[in-house]
Amino acid sequence: MHNVEAFRDLQREATRWRRYLHENPELDYRLHNTARFVTEKLASFGINHIETGIAETGIVALIQGEGGDGPTIGLRADMDALPIVEASNKPWSSKIPGNMHACGHDGHTAMLLGAAKHLAATRNFKGTVALIFQPAEEVELPSGALRMVQEGIMDRFGISQVFGMHIQPGIEVGKFGICPGPIMGSQDDFDIVVKGKGGHAADPHRTIDPVVIAAQIILGLQTLVSRKTDPLQSLVISVTKLNAAQAYNIIPDHVEISGTVRTLSSGLQDFAEREIFSAAEGIARGFGADVEFRYLRSVPGTFNHSEETKLAVTAARNLAGPASVNDAVQVCMGAEDFGYMLEARPGAYILLGNGPTAECHSPAFDFNDEALLYGIGYWVKLIETALTG
Ligand SMILES: [Zn+2]
Ligand SMILES: [Zn+2]
Repeated sequence: MHNVEAFRDLQREATRWRRYLHENPELDYRLHNTARFVTEKLASFGINHIETGIAETGIVALIQGEGGDGPTIGLRADMDALPIVEASNKPWSSKIPGNMHACGHDGHTAMLLGAAKHLAATRNFKGTVALIFQPAEEVELPSGALRMVQEGIMDRFGISQVFGMHIQPGIEVGKFGICPGPIMGSQDDFDIVVKGKGGHAADPHRTIDPVVIAAQIILGLQTLVSRKTDPLQSLVISVTKLNAAQAYNIIPDHVEISGTVRTLSSGLQDFAEREIFSAAEGIARGFGADVEFRYLRSVPGTFNHSEETKLAVTAARNLAGPASVNDAVQVCMGAEDFGYMLEARPGAYILLGNGPTAECHSPAFDFNDEALLYGIGYWVKLIETALTG
């Protein structure tokens, strides 16, 4: 059994990779330098089955164990950065103005590379490890995980279980958080167009003012959670965009309202879709206006499967001790596109402590390189636990 310090040399090496990736952040599917870097590293570890260009810049690489036949387990890291101006003031800050690794995907990539180097050198397992390096986690539909699944990676590489990991500020470094069932929320987005009758702002009585109607709709939506949803169920409805006329003296003929819905159950997604439309339509009709409505299911919830969650807990405890895992971690309503992979195959998603740093997506976010030690160790332990020869 490994002590976590067995991964110290790899952690030092992975820190250099992580900082290089941090200095060179790329967005969405345009990860050409990042993908080249990952591919070169994988090849240098003696991994010869590497497939690139999946979902544009995604990569799947296979490492065969020396313990005989067995299943193929997928380990996934996301590689994309965010359009944020960095304010971490670190020596390895972004060299690409306006792009920043503010969600730790540089660290996710580096720790999967670290695990790959170890697993390729030792091969102390049966079956196969499929390393999945994914683009475009941060984008709207279709995101990288969905496209990799649609391009058939699960069947093509014979993957039977799939695992994900994300850095988490607020959890101590060296600690893990996980729970069976929902761990991250779903994300749906909606647009409402309120269609009234425009005119001169000095003659409101000759118009059907969609600005006033939109204001009523926004307030009306607040009661869907507070008055119509079971208090023990989790639902968030946030209005985030509002578009009306661009002048002081014009009442526009339409107003656009957009927002997002987060929940932990598909029943509540159906409820939100139905009720947001009916509230908006009812309010608009009362004023003689109409609505157009669009509801987009952007990212499914991330639902951990129970057997794979137990496996993840065992691996993390083997690595860092029994007290290192909170196996009833609080669910996060943020969305994660790994949910698409968990819809395709059973698996589990675990949170890895980053310490008391700024939140993910903050310009001040700073990946804690000590977490690489635990991330690398977890992946290795997971494989050696799940694929014992
Ligand atoms: Zn993010
Ligand atoms: Zn992220």
